[in-house]
Amino acid sequence: MELKSNVPAGPIEQQWTRHKFDMKLVNPANKRKYSVIVVGSGLAGASAAATLAELGYPVKCYCYQDTPRRAHSIAAQGGINAAKNYQNDGDSVFRLFYDTVKGGDFRARESNVFRLAEVSVNIIDQCVAQGVPFAREYGGMLANRSFGGAQVSRTFYARGQTGQQLLLGAYQALERQIGLGAVQMFTRHEMLELIVVDGRARGIVTRDMVTGKIASHIADAVVLATGGYASVFYLSTNAKGCNTTAIWRAYKKGAAFANPCYTQIHPTCIPVTGEHQSKLTLMSESLRNDGRIWVPKKKGDTRSPAQIPEDDRDYYLERKYPSYGNLAPRDIASRAAKEVCDDGHGVGSTGLGVYLDFAGATQRLGEDKIRERYGNLFDMYERITGENPYQIPMRIYPAAHYTMGGLWVDYHLMSTIPGLFVLGEANFSDHGANRLGASALMQGLADGYFILPYTIGNYFASGKFEKVAATHAAFQAGEASVVARIQKFLGIQGRRTVDSFHRELGKIMWELCGMARNENGLQAALQKIPTLREEFWKNLRVLGEGEELNQSLEKAGRVADFLELGELMCLDALERRESCGGHFREEFQTEDGEALRDDETFCHVAAWEFTGYGKKPARHVEPLAFENVHLQTRSYK
Ligand SMILES: Cc1cc2nc3c(=O)[nH]c(=O)nc-3n(C[C@H](O)[C@H](O)[C@H](O)COP(=O)(O)OP(=O)(O)OC[C@H]3O[C@@H](n4cnc5c(N)ncnc54)[C@H](O)[C@@H]3O)c2cc1C
Repeated sequence: MELKSNVPAGPIEQQWTRHKFDMKLVNPANKRKYSVIVVGSGLAGASAAATLAELGYPVKCYCYQDTPRRAHSIAAQGGINAAKNYQNDGDSVFRLFYDTVKGGDFRARESNVFRLAEVSVNIIDQCVAQGVPFAREYGGMLANRSFGGAQVSRTFYARGQTGQQLLLGAYQALERQIGLGAVQMFTRHEMLELIVVDGRARGIVTRDMVTGKIASHIADAVVLATGGYASVFYLSTNAKGCNTTAIWRAYKKGAAFANPCYTQIHPTCIPVTGEHQSKLTLMSESLRNDGRIWVPKKKGDTRSPAQIPEDDRDYYLERKYPSYGNLAPRDIASRAAKEVCDDGHGVGSTGLGVYLDFAGATQRLGEDKIRERYGNLFDMYERITGENPYQIPMRIYPAAHYTMGGLWVDYHLMSTIPGLFVLGEANFSDHGANRLGASALMQGLADGYFILPYTIGNYFASGKFEKVAATHAAFQAGEASVVARIQKFLGIQGRRTVDSFHRELGKIMWELCGMARNENGLQAALQKIPTLREEFWKNLRVLGEGEELNQSLEKAGRVADFLELGELMCLDALERRESCGGHFREEFQTEDGEALRDDETFCHVAAWEFTGYGKKPARHVEPLAFENVHLQTRSYK
């Protein structure tokens, strides 16, 4: 397998501009001859489908929800970055690029990151034109706030509902094209197989989640914008439906899977309370603009927070990282929280919690201002915990949140399967080993509105496309394998529910491949996961039929894929014998407990190739060069 990044030559500032001119175009009258399948209707998928249809390509778009506007992007709270420099506080495209490369701990491809920073400014213009109600200053300018890993304010927001408002913008654009007949929308359809014909992606097989009908869909290119896989941990901030199935099917058809072990543990989530939980809730990073994080200095101090005087509090982020303070990046803030809790300073009944305190900000700004900035987040917190965060500090703890790993893509966002493009959280592209807050929305929209529309045209204009029919052997085989798998799930008739397997897998992943990892733990996980998988295939019980709405059947398919992906994540984490960003190997840390990279050996992307069921996948590398932001030890002190 060859990992050709296809990064254009020349100075980084000119690469994208120059490349847009160099790429081939499809003439407007010919665009209707090339059809595109877009799987996913979140920010990445909806923006891509709408833009491609606007350009004249016939598009079919798929999602498993009952409407495109319920995609998981709707959950995004805090904001979206862009280098507009409205604050005049020193921001620039180069600074956003620099912060993102450094934030990712020097494990992302420089050229992609630069392009992301460059198009970030267009995204805001596009969204404003669509009517996205970003917060504004008194004078009418768009407002900004700060997010972790940056010393400038570049995050645009719509209260704590930025994802929802951005998705409504993209959804309107998509609906317009659906209304015009340019996009055919398939809701409640789950992609269960990718079809490759003559080495190129030419279609998918779906299951209608209401009737159970299995069908083939054909196109000249397939775009996967199917989101992230943090639900492999069972408990995560992701929506329950988030899964890996689409990209995992593609991996098994030859698409390389890059850096699967790079997962982001978000520092500010509502702590776990017990075994009954099926989901965790994020408290947006934006809260760290005004909230201060602390724990009692005394171990096991059970006084209520109001009774603990200033001198008895440890504002550990401000102490350890004075220049970034509470806005230290997520990987660093999460590890610091774990460290103080492991050391006995944690709060709450489990001891796995730290305070996020707004008392100072409320005194300074007034409760109304705090309500205006974060009202919906405070309400959400109160509904879940029964505590009023205007009066007592929130209790928060890190939780699985985002996956930087995903299908490997080149500069054109094309995977190792020609004609298979991957956008948004589903690809590995821009965030290296740690994503900075408010950069995922930026990336999804950059990919869908501004990058794919150019690169897919170049792909279409570069070769001939033979007509393919659903009677083609590849489609027939794809459908047959989907049907056989469903029958297998239904036929096991064992004694355990899908959720019980998922929960057990999640525990293994969290304990052995979560916030901290080590050689022994990963070796143990690599023993436990295949054993669990074996039991799954012998002892799973899925009730109901295939030809009806059947949620345990849907979950069975997703958990079966998680049981394979989890193993690959552990293998990747094991082989990367260094610490970087969210991948913290306990054996590789500095004297003061920070991640210790090994640039000599691991300054590369690891991309895994499927080599057959039960066989060890092949590890390939794409070397990374840092010519514009020089390799340095990341410091936020
Ligand atoms: C609670 C929370 C808050 C966040 N807040 C922020 C924030 O403030 N700023 C920020 O930048 N990022 C934030 N993020 C991250 C960000 O929301 C996501 O990374 C981003 O929205 C992902 O967008 P996407 O389009 O790639 O995927 P998604 O929005 O997850 O969409 C995936 C789409 O794929 C479809 N799909 C998936 N699998 C299949 C299949 N097999 N068949 C058919 N369809 C399929 C789904 O139906 C859906 O339409 C947050 C994440 C969470 C969990």
